[in-house]
Amino acid sequence: MTKYTILFMLLFSGFALLYAQNLTKILNTQPNLILILADDLVYKDVGFNGCLNIPTPNIDKIASQGVKFTNAYVSYPVCGPSRAGLITGRYQDRFGFGRNPLFAPNDPNMGLPLSEETLASVLKKANYKSVALGKWHLGAHKSLHPLERGFSDFYGFLSGGHEYFPEKFLLEDAYQCKDQFDGYRTKLLRDYDRIEETEYLTDALSREAVDYIDKYKDQPFFLYVAYNAPHTPLQATDKYLKRFSNIKNKKRKTYAAMVSGLDDGVGRVLDKLEQLELSENTIICFLSDNDGHEKRNNSNNGHLRGGKSDLFEGGIRVPMLVKWKSKIKKGTRSNHISAFWDVLPTVAEILNVEMLSNIDGISFLPSLLKKSHQQRHDYLYWEFHELNGRQAIRKDNWKLVKYNVKTESNYFLFDLNTDPSEIKNISKEHPEKLKELISMLENTRTASKDFKF
Ligand code: CA
Repeated sequence: MTKYTILFMLLFSGFALLYAQNLTKILNTQPNLILILADDLVYKDVGFNGCLNIPTPNIDKIASQGVKFTNAYVSYPVCGPSRAGLITGRYQDRFGFGRNPLFAPNDPNMGLPLSEETLASVLKKANYKSVALGKWHLGAHKSLHPLERGFSDFYGFLSGGHEYFPEKFLLEDAYQCKDQFDGYRTKLLRDYDRIEETEYLTDALSREAVDYIDKYKDQPFFLYVAYNAPHTPLQATDKYLKRFSNIKNKKRKTYAAMVSGLDDGVGRVLDKLEQLELSENTIICFLSDNDGHEKRNNSNNGHLRGGKSDLFEGGIRVPMLVKWKSKIKKGTRSNHISAFWDVLPTVAEILNVEMLSNIDGISFLPSLLKKSHQQRHDYLYWEFHELNGRQAIRKDNWKLVKYNVKTESNYFLFDLNTDPSEIKNISKEHPEKLKELISMLENTRTASKDFKF
């Protein structure tokens, strides 16, 4: 071997090393995505929105290291349709998902139709591994299972709620469920298989989140961590209850303990990312699927009117945070009016992947990066189909809420800039604005299966 051959080999191996490093760099530029979804956690019951008696230091850390949204809305004021809007980027009435689905393992039509693309199937186009953890609630039939909807892994349950203590996970399979709430007592699923769980459910989901980060740390991944806390039943371990000896109301104390357990889980996820040096290029989004029902889970939405099932702010405005250490300026806030439909197009824009053309959401990436060209929704529209029907519309600072859609009409008009608590109905003072918004509301409803926001 001549000295020239040796020199050539050294140069070649040097180039090969550089190429490999660059390839790794390119692959690493695809950010990981972690979407943490709380269940029935109200806007005001988190430290970063002013809650004083339930410390949430870990969730607050996402706020202090990222951007806090003050006008973030769900797509529906209860669990199932809200998740359908979030995961598809589409107004869920368009595909007939206007109510909570029943737990129906034998019904392929009870859940998210197969015509719909999910966040996980969009990410699959960019070679992401997607993991769904916790509550699914988008269909219990095998054809609607997370692994059929773009996810590569699943750990959790398919029903709309679940018991928290593993000694209550008794049912071996869905065929043993005789009524809807039996879905709360099934053994958990790992992918398609029933397994034995030994931990308090919130802790189990946190453990799984950390384990899956480890499993997929060397490639781009999407983790959908759908905690069912603090949804009923109110159940917490002594570890978390002990933190709230100052709260005398037993239900409020348990709710607080459940939120605290969830916050611990967020801390474990953040710590794991730090440990693996993935914090810089992992996007973390924290949301709640709807606000809580104050009488049922003893949440406290402070000055906001209403709760779960309402279209007042206390039912549909939720806590929302996004952290992306390498891109988002820390400790910022955004007043941009956004809704669950916007998450999918935002992710698609970040990754430059194609999505279906019929999306209702608008990317809020400019708001994350503090760019000036943020496109705004002309207005947001909600319809709740139960309790005689409710409709609402938000256009800029104006909000119109209509109760009893099917019988007597009751219109409430508010200026959210001056009255964020929606106390004073100013419909008589602003007849022209009332007329404009009623017209918008009725026209949107008429075209509800085919309208654009
Ligand atoms: Ca919920």
